[in-house]
Amino acid sequence: MTEYALIIDYRYCTGCHACEVACRKEKGFTGEEYGIRVTEQGPIKLRGKWMYDFVPIPSSLCDACADRIEQGRKPACVHHCLAACMSAVPVDDISSAMAELGEKTVCFIP
Ligand code: SF4
Ligand code: SF4
Repeated sequence: MTEYALIIDYRYCTGCHACEVACRKEKGFTGEEYGIRVTEQGPIKLRGKWMYDFVPIPSSLCDACADRIEQGRKPACVHHCLAACMSAVPVDDISSAMAELGEKTVCFIP
């Protein structure tokens, strides 16, 4: 079976947290458990330029929604991302997928 990675182009992340909610519902996580969490970087001024980013980071509980992918569906977080800035790509295609994106990209391999 092809293994998939989660790629997040966080330039376009709005910090809406829909991915967190979708993941919790899909996986039935409760309490402190989570599959992905949206972090905030900044606001901070670095060498005269302001930086303020939302950066979604998958946890060790993320399996890239392998069961959904096997059914030909997108991972729950990808499906519900309002900014369409998340995608699941075969591990073999990570390099080419990331080459098309900017430096503000997170790649997670379960
Ligand atoms: S790929 Fe699935 S398990 Fe991983 S963060 Fe997204 S919804 Fe959660
Ligand atoms: S659903 Fe998409 S836009 Fe919203 S916080 Fe998650 S990655 Fe960012």
